[in-house]
Order: sequence, then C-alpha cells, then structure tokens
Amino acid sequence: MNSNPDICHVCGMTADPVVENVEYHKMYFWFCSGQCRERFVENPALYASKYAPEQKEILKKRTLHLAEPPDEEVAELLTSYLMDLMGVKEVVVEREQLHITYNLLQVTEAQIEEALTEAGLQLDDSWRERLRRAWVHDTEEIELKNLVAKPGSCCNKPPPGSLK
Ligand SMILES: [Zn+2]
Repeated sequence: MNSNPDICHVCGMTADPVVENVEYHKMYFWFCSGQCRERFVENPALYASKYAPEQKEILKKRTLHLAEPPDEEVAELLTSYLMDLMGVKEVVVEREQLHITYNLLQVTEAQIEEALTEAGLQLDDSWRERLRRAWVHDTEEIELKNLVAKPGSCCNKPPPGSLK
C-alpha cells in the first residue's frame, strides 16, 4: 500500500514527481518539495501515522534577528521569499527583526534559517542569539518527537512542555 502519489504527505499540496519519494515501512510517500521531504525524513513516524495531510497545525511565532536591518526593497523581497516556504503563515520585518509565524508540522526554525542563509542573509551571530537558536532547534525537535510518543505510556521522562 502506498500513500497517494499526487498529494504531498506533509502539507497536503500537489506532490511534485521530481522530488524523490521515500520508502518507510514498505510504503512509499510523495512530496511537493525538498523542504517537506526533509520534514518527513527527520520524523517519518509522525507523518506516516496520524498526521496525514488533513492534519492540524502547530503554530509557532518567533523572532529571528538579522545581522543588520535590510533596506525596504530587501525587506519586501525577503517577506515574499519566506512566505513561499511551506508552512510559513506570516512574516513581518521590523528593522533587523523578523517576526515569523509558521506551522511546525511543515517547517522548522532550522529550515527557515537555512533558507535565509541560502538567500545570502546573515543572521545575528551574537552569543545570545546563537544560544537562542540552538535552544529553539532542540525544543522543536523534542516537540515533534513527543507527538509520536504514545500518550499515557508510562515512563520517567518529564511530560512535554516541562522542558522549557
Ligand atoms: Zn509539501
């Protein structure tokens, strides 16, 4: 049994046959983009099971800091560039700050940062910001992993949310 080859299994949009499919537990899954494929590969159990395309959203609102404020034209380009990423809901550029709202099931801050770097933008490299980013990457990873963990199964791990 395979998933529907016409539908991206992460975001529910039309799948792109150019994006290589992924085999997981003898099932094949298709995707609309490399970005969605990456989300699936990092956490296949999550997307292959209960979070099929008609899934819900886990919205995150975060502020990323650029090394320097972009001028108006760049800010505009930057906004539409980020809005083109799967799962990005809202982008507001305020001087060197990027206020971004996104669906964690479709995109992570790590992927957004990567897209920014690929576009040639430099992130604020202060110690504080690097620490914040590392923390966000960790907590997002844990949050996605916890979605797969069966609720109620007994263990000594702290419940999700207590890891802040
Ligand atoms: Zn997709």
